[in-house]
Amino acid sequence: MVERLREQGIRDEKVLAAMATIPRHQFVEKGLAFSAYDDCALPIGLQQTISQPFVVARMIEILCEGRHLGRALEIGAGCGYQAAVLSLVASEVYAVERLRALLDRARENLRPLRLPNLRLKCGDGTQGLPEAAPFDTIIVAAGGMSVPPALKNQLAPDGRLLIPVGEADQQLLLIERQGNVFRESWRDAVRFVPLLTGTE
Ligand code: SAH
Repeated sequence: MVERLREQGIRDEKVLAAMATIPRHQFVEKGLAFSAYDDCALPIGLQQTISQPFVVARMIEILCEGRHLGRALEIGAGCGYQAAVLSLVASEVYAVERLRALLDRARENLRPLRLPNLRLKCGDGTQGLPEAAPFDTIIVAAGGMSVPPALKNQLAPDGRLLIPVGEADQQLLLIERQGNVFRESWRDAVRFVPLLTGTE
């Protein structure tokens, strides 16, 4: 899988090493383990999916460009895979998921990996995680039509936020904060499940 990521253009060695370390087959349903290293999204139950390896690597690589991830917040923890990869690259990771049942699965998937700098929370990620803010890095694994204001507000003064924006055709939007200035740049085309509100 890592060789393929290299061929697809992922260059950041820290990211490639993290992708090589986290066993993706432990995050998918047992019957799908044989496909775990293919470059595709797979179902993880409750109509949600584990993201495609290339997209996980690409998003983390964009956020790493020229800097450290520092304290990171992930919105949409799902099965916990990307949070695990992030925990090897960032100093601390908080991952928020709105579906309690999925979060329970993520906890089970993550337990054997013993990642001491990763914390999971059930909550509506459109509100961010005020009790742990500010964050140097915020990564959103679900797409909506707009950027939730709480996420911008919870960025550290030089923080970065990466979020898929759009409905059918989504594109990654990178927001770089410099004090009170928020610089936006559009990146790769992507396809994520919808960013919803509330918890279930
Ligand atoms: N990060 C996962 C991908 C999960 S798919 C991986 O590593 O593969 C996106 C997840 O976002 C879904 O589990 C969905 O329930 C969750 N989600 C959608 N809206 C949310 C919100 N407002 N707050 C938190 N999680 C949300």
